[in-house]
Amino acid sequence: MPPLKRAAFKATRLSETTYLITEHSDIYEEHPFIYIRFFHSFNTILVIDTGCGGVTEDEEIEITSLREFIEKGNPDTDDDHGDGKPLNEGGRLAYAVALTHCHYDHILGVKDFARDSPVYASGYAPEFISRENLPNHSLCRDLGIPTPRYNPTLVRHEGRIHEAPHNLVFLHTPGHTPDELAIWDESERRLFVGDTLYEWAPIIFPKEGSIIQWLQSVESLIRLVQPYPGAKICCGHTTADQPAMEVLHNARGFIWDVLSGKEVVRKRFEKRGEACVQFVQDGMRFSLICPERLVRDARAVNGK
Ligand SMILES: [Zn+2]
Repeated sequence: MPPLKRAAFKATRLSETTYLITEHSDIYEEHPFIYIRFFHSFNTILVIDTGCGGVTEDEEIEITSLREFIEKGNPDTDDDHGDGKPLNEGGRLAYAVALTHCHYDHILGVKDFARDSPVYASGYAPEFISRENLPNHSLCRDLGIPTPRYNPTLVRHEGRIHEAPHNLVFLHTPGHTPDELAIWDESERRLFVGDTLYEWAPIIFPKEGSIIQWLQSVESLIRLVQPYPGAKICCGHTTADQPAMEVLHNARGFIWDVLSGKEVVRKRFEKRGEACVQFVQDGMRFSLICPERLVRDARAVNGK
């Protein structure tokens, strides 16, 4: 057997049909979480987010394309199910890509799919992800890197796609960014929320974010999963397959503690021309970084 090629990605099996792929050595230190969901009866793999494009300083890494990893890489799943076979050997199954939002660490790997596969994005704020605005809103311009080109198909709130069964539902969840999109996989009771929230790393709002909208979105996600005990949440960083209700509840509770003044500012700094603040929960499970303006605005609306 030829020696295995080292990849910028690692796969973890979450269920028979769903894998978490982590990009572990990216130069941006974002370590984004990518998910793939097999829909065998549709002959399709749904790729949820595409990572940072495999850019790494680790010279031993040979596979830097997410698509190449899926088609040729050893998934090295760290469990009994791994037979060393690529997840989609020979590209047998087609792809559909869903982008939870347009930040660079979720879209830089899209180009290898966009040439022959549909790319879905939120239809909530089309101008936010327009060709003119994408370099700025993806943060690619700030980083001085080229913005990937793709032509997203915009999905409506509670929309479905042709490549997946009817109980896979897309939800507009503006807050982190206007184009934030969640995906509810009812048959597996799994909720994908992108960067709306996660644990053990700061929840970050860029200046285009809104805590007011975030609270409404999280509220609607809580209502969505409430009837499904055992529902799991899968986030864009650090948190995968954790109890959805519990994580949503506690993240919301932390943000309320910020708005009510129970949490105090731990740090102040400037970012992209705005005064930003950091809050950190004791124990560090939840923390928040955002422009102070977003906290003020949310306090004004929520009577705090
Ligand atoms: Zn983001």
